Amino acid sequence: MLNNNYRLYQSELDMDLGLKGKNVLVTGATGGIGLVTVRKFIEEGAFVIAHYHHNTAEAERLQHEYSLSILTLGADLSDEIQVQEMFTTISQKVGKIDILVCNAGIWPKTDETVAQMSFKRWKRTQAVNLDSVFLCCRAFFHQLQTQIRESANIILIGSTAAIFGEAGHLDYSASKAALTYGFTKTLKNEIVKYARLGRVNTICPGWVKTPMSEDALADTKGVKKVLQTIPMRKIAQAEDIALSILSLASDVLSGHISGEILTVAGGMEGRILFSPTEIDLDAAF
Ligand code: NAD
Repeated sequence: MLNNNYRLYQSELDMDLGLKGKNVLVTGATGGIGLVTVRKFIEEGAFVIAHYHHNTAEAERLQHEYSLSILTLGADLSDEIQVQEMFTTISQKVGKIDILVCNAGIWPKTDETVAQMSFKRWKRTQAVNLDSVFLCCRAFFHQLQTQIRESANIILIGSTAAIFGEAGHLDYSASKAALTYGFTKTLKNEIVKYARLGRVNTICPGWVKTPMSEDALADTKGVKKVLQTIPMRKIAQAEDIALSILSLASDVLSGHISGEILTVAGGMEGRILFSPTEIDLDAAF
């Protein structure tokens, strides 16, 4: 059974990533990838605004554990008013945001072809995965307009579904493709109007072991099928994605990288590479 406490490593990074004192907003901070990302940023000396949706208990735990390095804020990010209120609270309590990590998202559990998909499901997925990112980026840009500075950074979390598509999940694939391509390639040109060295990049994870993928990864037949498309024949841990987020967030490591799509998927390329007998599930996790 997965929970949010798996493999929360202490930072083993020896170099200064230049994240000390940075204010970082992580959305979906109590989810699998979000939680590890929050911990990594705090280990690097950043102050984290940890957004959560329903998981109040985990948010309270984080607030208690990191008290002076964190502010937890709840909001449904598909709701314009709630996003506006969240950013107003951040302005009042923290001041400016340096780094925005748009990580919150949903992946509807059932496979539905386009012929089967209800308009309701389509709209809900776009609202949570896409509208929320529009609203957060817009609010961040409003802040940048009034607080012109040298650097600012947005990291979006897309998916390999944006790149290869995902039969049964057109809603998810389309929402992530919009972020990965439309948002990244447009906002990298807009952010520099307010932050000369501002950067926008997207990370596209493949399969990651988190609560979102828990049910799908419990299906060993399905996992084997997925592993057949991945040269490294393993599933990512949340930490793999969190460390890539930190790397792109760091001006020291990635100061000249903007408008890029970083796929973190063990080399996945969307076609079958191995026969089922070449897959060893014990070596996969
Ligand atoms: P998760 O389900 O553990 O976390 C998702 C987070 O999004 C949760 O904290 C949840 O509360 C939040 N969220 C959902 N609806 C929301 C709403 N309406 N308003 C605000 N927040 C909301 O999943 P995860 O695997 O950690 O996913 C993080 C990101 O990574 C997502 O964008 C997901 O699409 C992406 N991703 C995950 C995988 C994977 O295999 N797990 C693969 C590719 C991409």
